[in-house]
Amino acid sequence: MSIGSNFFDELRNRITLSEVISRRIKITRAGREYKACCPFHNEKTPSFTINDDKQFYHCFGCGAHGDVIKFVTEHDNIGFMDAVEMLAAEAGMKIPQQSPKAVQQAKQENNLYDLLEEATILMEQCLNDPRNFDAMSYLLDRGINREIIKQFRIGFAPEDGQYIRKALLQKGYSDKDMIKAGLLRPMAQGGEPYAFFRDRIIFPVPDRRGRIVAYGGRILPEHMRPPQRGDFVPPKYINSSETPLFHKGRMLYGEPTARRAAAEGRDIILVEGYLDVIACAQAGIKGVLAPMGTAVTEEQIISMWQMIPSESKIPILCFDGDNAGRKAAIRVCNRILPLLEPGKSVNFAFMPDGEDPDSLIKSIGVSGFREVIKKSIPLFDFLWNTYTQGKDINTPDMKASIKKQLEHEISRISDKDVQNFYRSDLRVRVSKIFYPKRYYGYNTGGGKKTGQISIKPQMPKIKKSQKQHLVSKILLCTIINHPHIFDSIEEVLLNMVIKDKKMDSLRQNIVSFLCDYNDANREKLIDHLEKKGFSQEIRDICNESVYVHASFCSPSADKGNILGMWLEYWNDCNNAGLEEEIQNGWKRAYFDSNEKEEEKLKSLLSMKSRGE
Ligand SMILES: [Zn+2]
Repeated sequence: MSIGSNFFDELRNRITLSEVISRRIKITRAGREYKACCPFHNEKTPSFTINDDKQFYHCFGCGAHGDVIKFVTEHDNIGFMDAVEMLAAEAGMKIPQQSPKAVQQAKQENNLYDLLEEATILMEQCLNDPRNFDAMSYLLDRGINREIIKQFRIGFAPEDGQYIRKALLQKGYSDKDMIKAGLLRPMAQGGEPYAFFRDRIIFPVPDRRGRIVAYGGRILPEHMRPPQRGDFVPPKYINSSETPLFHKGRMLYGEPTARRAAAEGRDIILVEGYLDVIACAQAGIKGVLAPMGTAVTEEQIISMWQMIPSESKIPILCFDGDNAGRKAAIRVCNRILPLLEPGKSVNFAFMPDGEDPDSLIKSIGVSGFREVIKKSIPLFDFLWNTYTQGKDINTPDMKASIKKQLEHEISRISDKDVQNFYRSDLRVRVSKIFYPKRYYGYNTGGGKKTGQISIKPQMPKIKKSQKQHLVSKILLCTIINHPHIFDSIEEVLLNMVIKDKKMDSLRQNIVSFLCDYNDANREKLIDHLEKKGFSQEIRDICNESVYVHASFCSPSADKGNILGMWLEYWNDCNNAGLEEEIQNGWKRAYFDSNEKEEEKLKSLLSMKSRGE
């Protein structure tokens, strides 16, 4: 049996649309309808209308339109079935199940959800009990206000390991179910089961639909509750173990609110602990999540990508600024590399040394934390920093070693497109950092200090009248005569555009051939280009009249110097404003991230992969 349209009609009839919406946003009555500021676009005057008779909402501002199920899926940013189940439960309706086994399982699960809901209420009451005031005052002293305590349903598990058990037994729940839900631990040799969480502040963990499925328990500081046995140091935090409802590696603390925040277009930020999520929420930062006692898993990363509706899915992972934080970041980076896909990545943010989001917000305020988030860096930059920071990059061995390690990391990206772009970016960065301006020739007049190597290289002089075509000729001539430098300048070559159409076509042909035949020598390349109809151009370019302007492009030039000279020449051409002839598309694509440039880059890359 499947869910038929009768079911949905019945669901819509039983539920009042305006009630569901009013629990999420502020609405006001306007005649037979309700009005509200639309939650799906930014507005100050309400153009969002709710009609209970017709059972739909409509926004005259952005055109958002739908029924109660659509509203819940879009507003809460949850899946269709999640929304249907949530609403059906509200309406007291049973969703037709697939099989008797599924019915049985759903029944059991529902029972566990109810059990945990009851337990949560009990622990909330315990926190508010005057006998446990030191637990409450601990939270208040930490600056957590009562509203947030209520919102996050923070509770307290009493020292008496039988308290919750007895209360739940009275309500008709069994020891077996309480053990299954992770509330109780069985006692060996037939003793009474006892509470897993005792004498701890309790952070209930909701699933994406807001149902409590697990708990994190924090110990009270020693001055408030000294441990009973002096030799035993209990862990600061303990978390529910895996249960049928709780999968530690898949869930994230703060998910229901973060999903809504993601739907509103806010950043998704991953922090370390419960108190960080809570401090951020209190400071008005929505969209903050935390893993529970474990390092971030692949499933959690994927889950964060799924909750971001936009094309660019880039959650920000926040780490401590110390060594341990950096190491944790490297481990996460290792996990994420194979998962990367177009539009899906992460940014890394690092806290100042010794601070976590909770402490930072307390000491400097929320602006301090926002600043940290603003300074977050893309995964590529993190990778680059990890391998280059603090390293001596002045010897060829180190350069080679760093390049090799980074290439190895990049080779772990499974998505070919993403891997290619990482490779190109790596090449650009390697050429920029490893081949900075070289010093050659002595400046005989007007140098800063006599005898010092001048930073002003003796550039090939180009007279204005000769300038036409010469720059592009020199650049292309070098690559034709010395294809071995291609690897390091691919990105630059790929993105320059030569005004002369035939020359630009020659450039493109060189790029696509060398991309495919990385080890091609001069003869093979020339042979290929001649077959493609560029014989005349090659004769024009590769001859003494060009070599005389730039000795490095001649076939007899010293191989070791060519790359540095080429890059320097290219740099100087740009600095000297010789861009009339060659437009440096690369600069624009990377620094302005101009969409058109990216499109061009993509089409060039796909041309490359088609072998055109
Ligand atoms: Zn709207």
